[in-house]
Amino acid sequence: MITIKSPREVELLRIAGNVVYKTHQYLKPFVKEGITTEELNRLGEEYILSQGCTLSFKGYEGFPAGICMSVNSEVVHGFPSKRKLKNGDILTMDIGACWKGYHGDSGWTYAVGDISDDAKYIMEHTEKALYVGLEQVKPGNRIGDISHAIEEYAKEHNLGVVKELCGHGVGTDVHEDPEVPNYGEAGTGPKLREGMVIAIEPMLTMGSPKVFLHENNWTVETRDGSLAGHYEHTVVVTKDGYEILTGEIKNG
Ligand code: MG
Ligand code: MG
Repeated sequence: MITIKSPREVELLRIAGNVVYKTHQYLKPFVKEGITTEELNRLGEEYILSQGCTLSFKGYEGFPAGICMSVNSEVVHGFPSKRKLKNGDILTMDIGACWKGYHGDSGWTYAVGDISDDAKYIMEHTEKALYVGLEQVKPGNRIGDISHAIEEYAKEHNLGVVKELCGHGVGTDVHEDPEVPNYGEAGTGPKLREGMVIAIEPMLTMGSPKVFLHENNWTVETRDGSLAGHYEHTVVVTKDGYEILTGEIKNG
């Protein structure tokens, strides 16, 4: 069931989203060669809790951490570990925070030191695909318009679209209806209405879009080992467009 959020609920979602945004900003300077993803997760969890929020992902269907840490060919749901980041890696941190029962959800891919041209390419164009999808968000448009725009952008840039995972509604549950796939037909799917809150999150690959699931039953990685990018914002549909609830994250 797709719910329409009241202005009061949107305000709570805005606070949760802002904490997610601030956690990204807080962690960004720590994303450097030599740090472990476990340490980054610890810092992020502490920061979220210091803001009075709870961790949306920790314990969610058994997920063990507050932040998903996915490196290079890992697409999403990487477990924080003792793995040390190396110069040239890319790291996706997917962060969730909950304020008074309402969630914010935003993933972003970061460069570790000097990265390859391929890594720059997947980062640049997955981020752009997110904004191309966002341009479709306004009352009267349909979910399929977002999906189609992202898929077309990925095709134009020779990137693979991971189809096993998609965006979603956000509210009192971190994953609500509707699903927001990163591929599909324009003009299809649920109509967007003012007060709907959705997370849009293209997950694109440099090579084949085929993925496999790790034995931990969570981590999704490209089968051919190619790099993956993942950029996500939680947004509310407004009278004539959208408002990003998880802030404007700048790379670099
Ligand atoms: Mg999400
Ligand atoms: Mg996320």
